[in-house]
Amino acid sequence: MSFALLARRLTLAFLLVLAAAPAAAQDKRIALSFDDIPRFQGGFMTPDERTIALIAGLREAGVEQAAFFVTTGNLEDDYGANGEARIQAYVDAGHVIANHSHSHEYLWNRDAAAYIADLDKAEAWLAGRPGKRPWYRFPYLDEGRDPARRDALRAALRERGLMNGYVTVDLWDWAIDDLASKAIREKRAFDLRALGDFYVETIVQGANFFDRTARATLGRSPAHVLLLHETDLNALFIPDVVAALQADGWTIVTMDEAYRDAIAHVEPDTLYLGGGRINALAAVAGRDPDDLRYERNDDAELTRLFEERVIVKGDR
Ligand SMILES: [Zn+2]
Repeated sequence: MSFALLARRLTLAFLLVLAAAPAAAQDKRIALSFDDIPRFQGGFMTPDERTIALIAGLREAGVEQAAFFVTTGNLEDDYGANGEARIQAYVDAGHVIANHSHSHEYLWNRDAAAYIADLDKAEAWLAGRPGKRPWYRFPYLDEGRDPARRDALRAALRERGLMNGYVTVDLWDWAIDDLASKAIREKRAFDLRALGDFYVETIVQGANFFDRTARATLGRSPAHVLLLHETDLNALFIPDVVAALQADGWTIVTMDEAYRDAIAHVEPDTLYLGGGRINALAAVAGRDPDDLRYERNDDAELTRLFEERVIVKGDR
């Protein structure tokens, strides 16, 4: 064998090892969570149909336990009319429920005591229900933009035995659902398959984006928590989302397992808390928050991609 050929073969072998290394090192785990239950109606189906489809999709995908974060004030709206039965249906299917406040307000501009009374109202509704977990998810992931409010809420959650129901993968699934609903309202022609591909790709890329930050910050991949919402797109595409994550090396874990990760019990000493826990920990470690933003968490970027890839050409 000539030296050149040997060198080429060795180079090829080396490249194959490099390519295989990340796969071998991969231990990517992620749990699924859905917010704003019962959420307002989307463009494709009724809220009842959505719950049936989402439960079936999760079952089809083999998702053993997702979490549904309930905003109890939504039960008083028209779209929440049958919400209690839908919440029960998620629990009956093996999923868990937790607190996402009563009124879904920001914390940064509210009186802390009033904000705490509002989450207590939701907690009272949830108390004693099967599948209930002691987790509180901050609406808009807003944990307060000043130390006083942030620390008042940390103390309040502690007193109540509630854990911050943090996320690690924060992406704008709701914004893509909004774009699809708007296209339906405006009677624009779009490609459902292309919508599914765009949607799934946005989630898988986002999960990997936050995982890279996690590995750079923690030196390991934690059990991730994916933030999703109770949308029609999740009812339509959750089996595709899960299949794509698995094809990319991810394992779906239960929410109970995800919240057993060591990062569940830290309180990052930062006010940069609105981008999820990994970003908060990265900010504490000195990363510039501007570098921690997933590029598709952006209205203009999502709209551009939606127009380019989902809307049928010529439909303007
Ligand atoms: Zn929410």
